[in-house]
Amino acid sequence: MITTWCSTLGASLDRYIYSRSLKLHSFYKGKIEIVPKVPITFELFALWYTPGVAEPARVCGTDPEKSFELTNRWNTVAIISDGTRVLGLGKLGPEGALPVMEGKALLFKYLGGVDTIPLVVRERDLNKLAYIVKALEPSFGGINLEDIESPKCFDLLERLRDELDIPVWHDDQQGTALVTIAGLINALKLVGKKLSDIRVAVIGAGAAGIAIVKYLIVAGVKPGNIFVVDSKGILHRERSDLKSSDPKLKWKKWVAERTNEESKAGGIPEAMEGVDVVIAVSRPGPGVIKKEWIKLMNDNPIVFAEANPIPEIWPWEAKEAGAKIVATGRSDFPNQINNSLGFPAVFRGALTVRARKITDEMCIAAAYALAKYVEDSGKLSEDYIIPKMSEEEAYVIEAVAVAEEAIKKGVARRKLPKGELEGKIRELIHRPKKYLNIAVREGLIRETV
Ligand code: NAD
Repeated sequence: MITTWCSTLGASLDRYIYSRSLKLHSFYKGKIEIVPKVPITFELFALWYTPGVAEPARVCGTDPEKSFELTNRWNTVAIISDGTRVLGLGKLGPEGALPVMEGKALLFKYLGGVDTIPLVVRERDLNKLAYIVKALEPSFGGINLEDIESPKCFDLLERLRDELDIPVWHDDQQGTALVTIAGLINALKLVGKKLSDIRVAVIGAGAAGIAIVKYLIVAGVKPGNIFVVDSKGILHRERSDLKSSDPKLKWKKWVAERTNEESKAGGIPEAMEGVDVVIAVSRPGPGVIKKEWIKLMNDNPIVFAEANPIPEIWPWEAKEAGAKIVATGRSDFPNQINNSLGFPAVFRGALTVRARKITDEMCIAAAYALAKYVEDSGKLSEDYIIPKMSEEEAYVIEAVAVAEEAIKKGVARRKLPKGELEGKIRELIHRPKKYLNIAVREGLIRETV
């Protein structure tokens, strides 16, 4: 009854949001623009452009690394999508992806002070996409891949991380994993369990699920204690469909070979039996996870139901069934697992030290920093395991942790002492908010209609 009522309410709310969004997009005609960051006079144009610019051009041509000092490359990220998996809407194509990438650009700037160029490309072939992104490297300090279908996204990320000398990130994989692990670290503190001891069921073996498995392992969960389920059931070495030589199965095989030590077979309930944590990134619910399956879990169950827009199980149902801590992808329930808590600060940290890579350790350092921010606030509780998107200081602390880890791991082009790092990062994160205030005050950005 409550579920039906909520679904109806949810559907009319969604309809309102969609129509309002369309109206605002049409009113503003795009969400970002490029503005100068230098003083301008007609005399100065002779320095910013020809003839004066010939000298910085010569310097960068002779020593390409100088492009990180003499241009805005150091703070610019390309947001690349082929439009093959736009939100939950499927293959909308590059133009369909563009409004989403502009939205991402807005979040990068507002939350992390990172400049971005949304670049949607009319190319779906893995090799050609890799070629295009590689060719773009000289313009950018980092690459953010977005809304690219799996399993192509895994190979593309792996290849570009190897071949490029700037950070490459796929937010649907690493961003989700980072924020999930941050929440998990704090949830485990509340129930007195350790990453190295827990058993985890991961529901969904797509972009998010496989990355979560990878990063759970990097964070210290024993691979054999992880049980992964896709739409065909639990992944294990003997599953007949995984015997095929189809290259598309490479990553599921990777998971099957490492996880599920006891070769459990079955579906979601079998995977959930006897685990401490369930992390679901499968398909919109409710009803993907049933209440009675929570009862099969170990004491103090932790349930992360992250499907958007509707979690695999409603939070109140999970709680009624005995879940101790519940997180979802939604802002209208406590504990929102929201990628926006990850990528702006990860890039802020990486770009500030001109990092060559975002290593897995940098990603885990970011997760621990987010978790520590909550713990240090003294407010850690079952309903507050992860910062809210509006908590600006969390981004500063996270970005500093990422930058320090980059320095420690030897992937930073620039090494700064902690105090200086923190000052620069705080200023860069705060700068766009100052700008926006001025632009709104001066009427350059009009009030919404
Ligand atoms: P994907 O299409 O790459 O993968 C989905 C996976 O779920 C596939 O392996 C599929 O086999 C599996 N699946 C589907 N129905 C299932 C079922 N009934 N039982 C078991 N497995 C099932 O998608 P993705 O990018 O990995 O995203 C998956 C979901 O996670 C989406 O709903 C997305 O909105 C959500 N998500 C949330 C966040 C967040 O921050 N909250 C971040 C990323 C993804």
